[in-house]
Amino acid sequence: MKGSSIKIENLNKIYYEDDFVALDDVNLEIKSGEIFSLLGPSGCGKTTLLRMIGGFLEPTNGHIYMDGEDLLKLPPNKRKVNTIFQNYALFPHLNVYENIAFPLRLKKMNEKDIDFAVKKYLDLVKLNEHINKKPNQLSGGQKQRVAIARALVNEPRILLLDEPLSALDAQLRQHMLLELDAIHDEVGITFIFVTHDQQEALSVSDRIAVMNNGKVQQIGTSYEIYEMPSNSFVANFIGETNFFTGIVKDINGNCAEIEVKDLGNLKVYLDKKININEKVRVTIRPEKIRITKEKPLSLTDDFNVLNGTVDKMIYKGFQTKYYIKINEKFTFNVQKQHAKYIIDEGIIDWYEDVYIWWDMNDGYIVEV
Ligand code: ATP
Repeated sequence: MKGSSIKIENLNKIYYEDDFVALDDVNLEIKSGEIFSLLGPSGCGKTTLLRMIGGFLEPTNGHIYMDGEDLLKLPPNKRKVNTIFQNYALFPHLNVYENIAFPLRLKKMNEKDIDFAVKKYLDLVKLNEHINKKPNQLSGGQKQRVAIARALVNEPRILLLDEPLSALDAQLRQHMLLELDAIHDEVGITFIFVTHDQQEALSVSDRIAVMNNGKVQQIGTSYEIYEMPSNSFVANFIGETNFFTGIVKDINGNCAEIEVKDLGNLKVYLDKKININEKVRVTIRPEKIRITKEKPLSLTDDFNVLNGTVDKMIYKGFQTKYYIKINEKFTFNVQKQHAKYIIDEGIIDWYEDVYIWWDMNDGYIVEV
């Protein structure tokens, strides 16, 4: 099977009943064969965008091109696009085989070809042993597989997946995510995946568009979005983080020294054009900060060190989360993976006096 590309240009959606702007000048390109995720909080417009690609909703203005051709001119049934809905939308009175065969029967395909196609996709989703079961005799994961097979049997060039894992429990979600990834590798078409779950998007996507309030905030790979968030919203939405804001006092090569009220001077790696006396906002992820009882010795100049007390700690099995109060104004969220460090550095307890420190290269300047 072959995937298609999508190009979205200046797309807007206004719901005129209440003058609500659901999509605000969206521009993005999805490459053929990608797993592309639309990620954002509830109400940010991701489903609205997906429904426009599927043809279930018309934009107020703007364009959508599929392989360079105007997609908006085509009715939904003429688009080589299929959707897997959140609730799977299986036909309760049809068994697994007939659910998958349904789109082909609509097309009046002959029985032999239907049988060949259905068996091919039953194989792909590993449901051969369940062909006679009705949807209510299937587990959540199996229903999900029927929905995938039914969406693929028409051989679309783009598969739209609207929160496809939200009805499954956490463990099964992880499992189905791996399966979706494997199915994607096998069929090679474009997957556009809508989710509000950061971990889901980070682990499965080739690229992600982070959305908020109808606007695209950033487009990038999982690594780019997590490590180089373009603004505070993205930094905060993709995992936990700490922020501080200050004035650039000195620039030395790629190192900026920032004066932060109530924290003193902190350094950060400079990857953007910024001038002395400009205001900057820095984000530093909790897992990049180290925590020790003793002041770390012999660190190079690249490190920031602060002294504080443990205000709160939460044991989470594989890690412990500490809230370190530096003074009345600042509390840092620090996450320490277990295993080795606990033995090396001793167990740190509530209200202890500690040092936190991080490499200035791990801080990242986001827009103010
Ligand atoms: P969720 O994750 O909750 O599904 P979403 O990001 O997919 O959220 P959309 O369903 O795209 O969000 O909705 C975007 C915004 O548009 C929401 O604030 C919603 O209330 C609004 N909206 C959707 N449909 C209509 C409508 N028919 N009339 C008015 N407003 C609407």
